[in-house]
Amino acid sequence: MSKNRARLLLVTTLLLAASLACQTITQAFTVETDRLTPAASPTSVGGQSGNDGPVNTPLAEEASPDNPQPGAAGFGDPYYPNFGNGGYDALHYIIVLDAEIGPNTITAEVTMQAAALEDLTSLNLDFVGLEVDRVAVDGVEAQYKRSGGELTIYLPAPLSAGEAISVSVAYHGTPGRGVDLSSRPEYEIGWGHYGEGVYIAGEPGGASSWYPVNEHPSDKATYEYHITVDDPNVVGANGLLQETIPAGDGETTYVWASVHPMGSYLTTLAIGEFDLETSQSPEGVLIRNYFEESIAQSSRNEFDVTGEMLDYFASLFGPYPFEAYGVAVHDTPLGFALETQTLSVFGSWFINEEVIAHELAHMWFGDSVTLATWQDIWLNEGFATYASWLWYEHAYGDGIMDDIVNDYYDVMASFPHQPPADPGADNLFSDTVYTRGALALHALRLEVGEDSFFDILYTYHETYKYGNASTADFMAVAQAVSGQDLGDFFQAWLYETELPDIPQLGLSADDF
Ligand SMILES: [Zn+2]
Repeated sequence: MSKNRARLLLVTTLLLAASLACQTITQAFTVETDRLTPAASPTSVGGQSGNDGPVNTPLAEEASPDNPQPGAAGFGDPYYPNFGNGGYDALHYIIVLDAEIGPNTITAEVTMQAAALEDLTSLNLDFVGLEVDRVAVDGVEAQYKRSGGELTIYLPAPLSAGEAISVSVAYHGTPGRGVDLSSRPEYEIGWGHYGEGVYIAGEPGGASSWYPVNEHPSDKATYEYHITVDDPNVVGANGLLQETIPAGDGETTYVWASVHPMGSYLTTLAIGEFDLETSQSPEGVLIRNYFEESIAQSSRNEFDVTGEMLDYFASLFGPYPFEAYGVAVHDTPLGFALETQTLSVFGSWFINEEVIAHELAHMWFGDSVTLATWQDIWLNEGFATYASWLWYEHAYGDGIMDDIVNDYYDVMASFPHQPPADPGADNLFSDTVYTRGALALHALRLEVGEDSFFDILYTYHETYKYGNASTADFMAVAQAVSGQDLGDFFQAWLYETELPDIPQLGLSADDF
């Protein structure tokens, strides 16, 4: 993700004298990354009522075929322990959803195909707001209970570890209604309705505002969407458009499928009156951009560089990992852009070369190789930030990298900050994650040399593509590829608060 932060574009503004009016910061940006706290919502039990007892019973003892247990209500993420759930592995989601854009209401049925990881009596999905109409397990109606952001589903029969299960939830309502969104930044709102359209951005935890999901990036799954809207609205989504089906009454169903596994925070829909503009990168990767009809040509032209960028990144990081790329540009002034898989979300005023490169680079680092826990966020943001610097180096000459590194080193030396590999849950999208993370990669490049550094990036992606990786995984690849003991180097750059020197450039925090 890119946020509209004062420092994000400092260097490129200075060096390239770009006249990017959209960089003007008009208001302070408050970051709230705590686990979203839904407003007190009525606890309900399907077919029953009045049961307000605790539902999120952690596993008290080992589950076994003779003693199946409830699945845990949280995955145990170090920063957001209640995100996700335990006991099963989501494999595939089928989202069938009818959206009325004017009144902003949806009617949906979501089916999650999963495999049990333990012997289970119940399992949880993350789901906030909206009204549940029916829950079924393998086609059999099931009892359920809601409490806060947890939807607990009682299995009609105990499930054994390794068994497949299909859970369907039918629901309706207005996403976000009845949910306290006051602490949610706009990139975590999930279903973002802005009058004439809908954008979806949910990092780290907004997907559960529009569909029931195992909301942790470690449980990636494939997706299939059947989204019905009134004409002339259209629907963009992750993956490839499979077909459009007339649905009667002036409605059309858009069927999309994403065949590569995806973290839930990377799911998106773009609904509105969009123009579809299709092209290819010079090497032949499909690019399909959705521009809301009122987006100016000059803004659209900013994305013309995408194909060249994509091929350049592929030459460094490995073949482009997905079936297509593109952007959905909404005509609403979002203060961020988000790397939703294969179709990044942009608003109308945060469009420039640096952000375009940043979101594209996330397809390798963030989307294909996804962070193992939210503490590993620098593996997303430090890498995407550094990739945008690499693009500038490629496009504008070797000398620019030293200038960028010097300027950002100056920035980071000017204020105390947390180490990038443990920024704290309240600093998930802070400068240390983006800028110091990127500086750490440049310092690594200077430490191990050009060939070894780019071999590390390539090998890291190749090893963990379509899966998840932790900071320890990256460090292990770097050590193995370089053949160097990098323990002290990574400790200083990633886990110590003091900004390390970059002796090769004569940079020392003591000088600032
Ligand atoms: Zn990013």
